[in-house]
Amino acid sequence: MFHYLSSRSVDSAGHSHPGPEKMTTLAMLTITADDGTRGYAFGPPEVIRPTVIEAFVRKVLVGQDPFDRERLWQDLVHWQRGSAGQLTDRALAVVEQALWDLAGRALKIPVYKLLGAYRDKVPAYGSTMCGDDLPGGLATPDDYARFAVTLVQRGYKAIKLHTWMPPVSFAPDPAMDIKACAAVREAVGPDIDLMLDGYHWYSRTDALTIGRALEKLNFAWFEEMMNEQSIASYTWLAKQLDIPIVGPESISGKHHSRADWAVAGACDILRAGVPGVGGITPTMKVAALADAFGMNCEVHGNGAANLAVTAAIKNCRWYERGLLHPFLDYDVVPGYLHALPDPMSADGFVQLSQQPGLGEDINFDYIAAHTVTNY
Ligand code: MG
Repeated sequence: MFHYLSSRSVDSAGHSHPGPEKMTTLAMLTITADDGTRGYAFGPPEVIRPTVIEAFVRKVLVGQDPFDRERLWQDLVHWQRGSAGQLTDRALAVVEQALWDLAGRALKIPVYKLLGAYRDKVPAYGSTMCGDDLPGGLATPDDYARFAVTLVQRGYKAIKLHTWMPPVSFAPDPAMDIKACAAVREAVGPDIDLMLDGYHWYSRTDALTIGRALEKLNFAWFEEMMNEQSIASYTWLAKQLDIPIVGPESISGKHHSRADWAVAGACDILRAGVPGVGGITPTMKVAALADAFGMNCEVHGNGAANLAVTAAIKNCRWYERGLLHPFLDYDVVPGYLHALPDPMSADGFVQLSQQPGLGEDINFDYIAAHTVTNY
């Protein structure tokens, strides 16, 4: 576990916003093979706690072949049921990413090639932070419009808005969400792909109102506008809207729950991110499932592992780059890395690193100098 400087703070609902620069903690999991080859993965310290490592990860991994990723992942999944919620999908994902990183480093190839690459660069969409009440930040529809123009100038060919949610005083407000989307469309013109990911607990009728407005604005997709626990609500909405519904992002159930969504017609595009579904392997399973149904699988979230998956599959249109805010420069490299894992060119493409493993250029000296605890 180590400290690094970050200018992002988290509100009471768990959404990140710009904040004063302060020390933040991050954990790096290291898996070492008998021949000394190592694999690394980063995660929140609360996700890969010492008790989780001791009680589950060591028991499953020690003495095993680190190349047997499917078996090791299945063994960890087996331990989940009896772990009383301690061994989470997010913990699984950190362990599994480190195994992929180790394999890539051992074989001296990037993980996206190990997965079976489809492409070497992926177009990115700029994914904004949630709305706020910071003057000149993301407080008004005009703020979103101004920021969208900046993002287009930076090279983004697509933008996803995260709009206002509590604890912002007036949120949620369907009319404000629609105003922000209209202002952005007006500002960037017809040729930029736009998506909305707003408040996650709208009623069916509010969701339908917003969805119909997005259709008029020619938005490319509508994401997590209702509680994802209700498949029936998503099926109800998807039947009535022409705009593609993307999901599910935040429910549990790995690839199994995604299969139920596809069968129920609850979405038009499936969604999975490496931390949310328990690793790179299950994310690839969701992508294959989507492919079998003739659907795209839009990968959720940024970072080296999600980027590797987007480059390894055909049926994902975009890499999600963010979260972005007018007060923050995403292109600043955090202290624990030598370079960003997802540098974007002026034409909006993220080029995959050719380094062995996940492609994170780790600054081991920085981490050693800022280590708080080792376990
Ligand atoms: Mg989302």
